[in-house]
Amino acid sequence: MIDDILAELEADASLDVGEQFAAVTARYFESTRVGAGQVSTPRSPEELARRFDERFPENGRPVRDIIARLERDVMADANKYYHPMYMGHQTSAPLPVSVWMESVIGAMNQSLAVWEMSPTATVIEHQIVKWLSTLAGYPTSAGGTMTSGGTEANFTAMLAARNAAIPDVWENGVGDDPPYVVYGEHAHYAVTRAIGQLGIGRKHGIPVPSGNFRMDVGKLVSILDTLREQGKSVMAVVATAGTTATGSFDDLESIGEICAERGHWLHVDGAHGASALFSSNPPSAVNGLRHSRSLAWDPHKMMLLPLAAGMVLTRDERDLDFAFAQQAPYLFHAEKTERVIDQGVRSFQCSRRADVLKLWFVIQRFGSRGIGALYDHLCNTARLLFEAIEERDDFETLHEPESNILCFRYLPAWARSGERDASDADRKHVDALNRELRPRYNREGTGWITATVLGGRPVLRVTMMNPRTGAAHVRALLDGLAAKAAEIERG
Ligand SMILES: *Cc1c(COP(=O)(O)O)cnc(C)c1O
Repeated sequence: MIDDILAELEADASLDVGEQFAAVTARYFESTRVGAGQVSTPRSPEELARRFDERFPENGRPVRDIIARLERDVMADANKYYHPMYMGHQTSAPLPVSVWMESVIGAMNQSLAVWEMSPTATVIEHQIVKWLSTLAGYPTSAGGTMTSGGTEANFTAMLAARNAAIPDVWENGVGDDPPYVVYGEHAHYAVTRAIGQLGIGRKHGIPVPSGNFRMDVGKLVSILDTLREQGKSVMAVVATAGTTATGSFDDLESIGEICAERGHWLHVDGAHGASALFSSNPPSAVNGLRHSRSLAWDPHKMMLLPLAAGMVLTRDERDLDFAFAQQAPYLFHAEKTERVIDQGVRSFQCSRRADVLKLWFVIQRFGSRGIGALYDHLCNTARLLFEAIEERDDFETLHEPESNILCFRYLPAWARSGERDASDADRKHVDALNRELRPRYNREGTGWITATVLGGRPVLRVTMMNPRTGAAHVRALLDGLAAKAAEIERG
């Protein structure tokens, strides 16, 4: 038996088998480009689960058969982020070269835990950390690692902030009176989750209300003043560059100055929006990234990499080293006094994929100009949708797009006059209609969008993460939604 299997391993490693996988992927790129087929699936989780509910296979099967099943049973009912009518979540239509790189990364299987497990990938990761932190305006003392995404990046940065606030926390815990974290109310849940995970207690996280979807800087100041008057310490102020709901940028210049004056750790969650640093016309806020002491930045968002590719940067590499002040003699051999090249000392993870290699490939393929042009293109697509809505009376926007995200709502005919939303009952009707519209539209398979709640009311939401989406598609989206809404209204 083992001899047969060893022979199969060799056959599987051949170009012939590799080409079958490449062919499936290329067919997927091609069919989605022409917008063929459904964007997502109309099927329920139960129906899909039945498809895969079978006995654990005892014997193997030929690759060709499994690939055929992959296309039929898996890919056909998957979300097609490459379909130009997919305008839903912040999951990218990944750059094709980074997709092809995935198999190279898997083949080489370098682990970023320690340099000796990844001699070239580790030094490349340091190089990319240097590039991105320079872009962010950090000094040469900066450090960072790639992460599984923004959630881990935010957690890691806040862990570092906790260590700075409570230097003996690793030994003694957070104590009876842990410090406070002050964050914008629109912050991603990764921030409040980290507060919970770090053991400082949810009560020690204070949300700052927003004005126009950005952290209200005046309210931030009064919260910080109150904490100071009460003799409380502040572990971190967390601002956002590119909020999840509306893609808005907090006023990082003002917040940065306030934190500098008071000596507070400013962490910026730029998971979505830090890539604006590449833009030819970035929002003025991104200049303020240089004030931060730590930054979360997801290349798997606006740099269009496939999952997973996240990044955490600190303006001083030692902040990350102290965040994980652990000894592990079987892995980490260096003396504490020297700078450690092993990234495992700075990472939540031990074994870690060399995701940095697909980023390195993309950076060379497109350069900062190409990456910036793609960023601007996606933002421009959101702008096209905004303008298309402004020209019609059956939708209204909730904000101007600051990046590639736009929230809007449908208005039934009677609500299009000056006295729209006149009464509570009217508002409820519009809310119910918009709540129902998204699942009904998405089920049809001709497009796919997402939704959120703004100011307590349900709204439709799109994020443009696919360079193939253009003017015709945003018009088709509005026409499709309007037709579906009219159908719902007719009952
Ligand atoms: C996507 C996102 C996160 C979470 O990042 P993951 O990569 O999904 O873990 C956090 N914050 C913001 C602002 C995001 O856009």
